[in-house]
Amino acid sequence: DPRLERISSAIRVIPDFPKPGILFQDITTLLLDPKAFKDTIDLFVERYRDQNINVVAGVEARGFIFGPPIALAIGAKFVPMRKPNKLPGEVISEEYSLEYGKDKMEMHVGAVQPGERALVIDDLIATGGTLDAAIKLLERVGVHVVECACLIELPELKGRDRLGNKPLFVLVKV
Ligand code: 5GP
Repeated sequence: DPRLERISSAIRVIPDFPKPGILFQDITTLLLDPKAFKDTIDLFVERYRDQNINVVAGVEARGFIFGPPIALAIGAKFVPMRKPNKLPGEVISEEYSLEYGKDKMEMHVGAVQPGERALVIDDLIATGGTLDAAIKLLERVGVHVVECACLIELPELKGRDRLGNKPLFVLVKV
């Protein structure tokens, strides 16, 4: 797809952020290019509009940028999957391991119903721990996760394997 070239070039790479040795994929430059941003949303919408998806679950923080326009376009609700202690209502939470230590992801009780069909979206998959936690949270309440979607995959980190047999769709591999 010719749109992928524009998307890929709109992503900026910043060395040594947030720590020395890390090559950070910065999607804020893609947001500055309305054509590339629209192409990104369009590619996801084209893939998901006829899949009876009723939930788009976006992972904090950058899943909050890409999730809502996709949800609106496909007629699904948007559900934020947040860092701990951010959501004001009753939550269910899932712990997951990071490179050093642990983190937690939370979702509002009642945001989704058993039997609903979800797309999980984030900007990037590295080790897969974040997306795996989102899948587990949704599946614990009986939601069917149809697929996970990211703009960027770092295939060397084998995050895809951590998702088990859950399909993962990405636009750009780095
Ligand atoms: P994982 O859990 O797959 O190891 O890490 C993925 C999470 O870390 C995502 O929520 C993603 O936003 C963030 N992340 C890790 N590295 C990068 C990066 O280079 N660029 C961006 N934009 N996000 C990153």
